[in-house]
Amino acid sequence: MHFIDTYLHERRELDLYRQPVTYQPVDAAHVLLDNKPHLMLASNNYLGLTHHPQVKQAAVEAIERYGTGSGGSRLTTGSHPLYEVLEQDLAAFKGTEAAVVFNTGFMANVGAISALVGPGDVVFSDEYNHASIIDGCRLSRAQTVVYRHADMEHLQELLETTPCQGHRLIVTDGVFSMDGDIAPLGTIVELAERYTALVMVDDAHAMGVIGQGGRGTVSHFGLQGRVQVQMGTLSKALASEGGYIAGSRQLISYLVNKARSYIFSTAQAPATIAAACAAISVLSGNPELVHKLQANAAWMRHELTQAGLTVEGGGTPILPVMVGEAAVAIRMSRELREAGFIVSAIRPPTVPPGTSRLRLTVSAAHTQAELVEAAEKIIAAGYRLGLVQE
Ligand code: PMP
Repeated sequence: MHFIDTYLHERRELDLYRQPVTYQPVDAAHVLLDNKPHLMLASNNYLGLTHHPQVKQAAVEAIERYGTGSGGSRLTTGSHPLYEVLEQDLAAFKGTEAAVVFNTGFMANVGAISALVGPGDVVFSDEYNHASIIDGCRLSRAQTVVYRHADMEHLQELLETTPCQGHRLIVTDGVFSMDGDIAPLGTIVELAERYTALVMVDDAHAMGVIGQGGRGTVSHFGLQGRVQVQMGTLSKALASEGGYIAGSRQLISYLVNKARSYIFSTAQAPATIAAACAAISVLSGNPELVHKLQANAAWMRHELTQAGLTVEGGGTPILPVMVGEAAVAIRMSRELREAGFIVSAIRPPTVPPGTSRLRLTVSAAHTQAELVEAAEKIIAAGYRLGLVQE
């Protein structure tokens, strides 16, 4: 098929061809690649809970007790007892009345946004929001108005000048996944209150990472009760798979009745839900894990910046080391891989052309010695590729 050949050829020519690489996980921070041990610096397993004994044990016990698959959607026959526990735990952790779990974070965004707004409504969306937010906006058929990244003057101008017959929704990542910065949620909430808009925050990279004990962006800014829709994932710091929306009881009942990605998809396996429950329990009981993560991230950011590398963002474990062209990002990531470190090369269309980067993620599972060695190797690669001047 000609159009497929043309597309794939073009991707290769532009250094944008993608294919998954198989890593064999060893523990929360190490993988085998071609049978050689590598340090993982590209995972969203921020707290290292994928291999925590309590989390693994909970998953095993769930399989023993309830089997493997769920057998149906939540509203038919798939709602096994662990769901209720997880939704209560999530609501308690986030400080909301209720929560509902979706099969993935992607489905939570797509389902919630398309349920909350429709034709006649307007969504105000940060230009760097995650693809699942963008797709949720498209699917909703509401008018989508994109504001420049974290630019609050631009958001205000658009709120003032965009006519709206229905209702308004402002949606933002809490922690931006490719940029590692935190959204100015305090100002967003003030504007939302002034212009009567709902606020939705995506805490995929904020849950377990920022806020009191890792409670996310709303907690980080002390905005409890002022953000109507808090979305998050179970797939990153919570070491499982899935997404959730936390909010008022009324909001959650609305989504259960209206969000198509919730209604029409088979529920998650008991082991998946059990692992997430156990991860919340470990997180709630061990706030020092979040402190360790934050300290590791701050150390690495300081080290790379001091050496002269440009590291965007701040205050999060996502460290985008800016390199510019896609080919340089790939070369640097390959060199590091050969030295035993897995770091992702992020290229267009995930980020704008000319802003390719190495996306380094630090975890609470990394030791200081590992971070020191990784920093040395990254800085040395930066010298070789001309990103750091002697
Ligand atoms: N939102 C953001 C900001 C994300 O980074 C991601 C995942 N990369 C998602 C949503 C989707 O979550 P999931 O991977 O659980 O589908």
